[in-house]
This record gives sequence, structure tokens and C-alpha cells, in this order.
Amino acid sequence: MVRTAGQVIDDAVLGSLEYSVSELKVPLIVILGHDSCGAVRATKDAVEAGEMPSGFIRDLVERITPSVLTSLRNERHEVNDMVVEHVKQTARRLADTSHVISEAVEKGQTAVIGLSYSLGEGRAELVSGIGEL
Ligand SMILES: [Zn+2]
Repeated sequence: MVRTAGQVIDDAVLGSLEYSVSELKVPLIVILGHDSCGAVRATKDAVEAGEMPSGFIRDLVERITPSVLTSLRNERHEVNDMVVEHVKQTARRLADTSHVISEAVEKGQTAVIGLSYSLGEGRAELVSGIGEL
């Protein structure tokens, strides 16, 4: 379990996931976003206001901003739509960024799926998938 606000990926997350794939042979990586996400909401607010937060929250916001911009460009203005977009982009980015993970996916040793979890309903919906399950 690698847990970050807004399921953002940084070098430590990539290192942890590459270790889990290459050494622990995990067969599935799940990107789990959730509705009403505060990190995604903070990014939406920052983009709309044109003002970046200070400190390391800025780092989170910068990593989530591409997903918020894509959502807005597609006329999706709700935080929960942005969460789904961000889950998709995070899964894609993981495969794009990490050779270890993309090679493991190509060899069928692992797969990456994206889920959006509904806090109210207590269940998750599949929103993206990379590789064969
Ligand atoms: Zn959250």
C-alpha cells in the first residue's frame, strides 16, 4: 500500500511500486481515487483562482493540475469527474514513467487498473485498465 493525497506519484512512490513489481512480484497495481477528494478540490480551486498554494501542498496541486485542466477542457466541472480523470491520468503516467512497470505489463506479469471509490456508497468503480488481467 502506497498512500498519497490525490494519489499523486513522486519518485518515492515510483521506487516503492517498482520494488513491489520486481521483487515482490505483485500481479496488480490499483490506482484508487475517491470522490470528494480534498486534494483534487484544492487543485480545482487553485486553477480557477489562478493562485497556487504555498509549501509542499503546491507540489500536490502541480501534479494534479493536468487532470483538472483536461476535465475543464471537456466541460467537466465537478470534482468527482476530475477525480475520475485523475485516476486515468495517474494510471497512464505510471506506465509511461516507469520502465520497470511498463515492461512488467508488456510481459503480462502485472497490470494497472484505476478505480474511483465512492465514500457514500462504499464501493469502487473501474475507470481504466492497462495490461491483461
Ligand atoms: Zn483525497
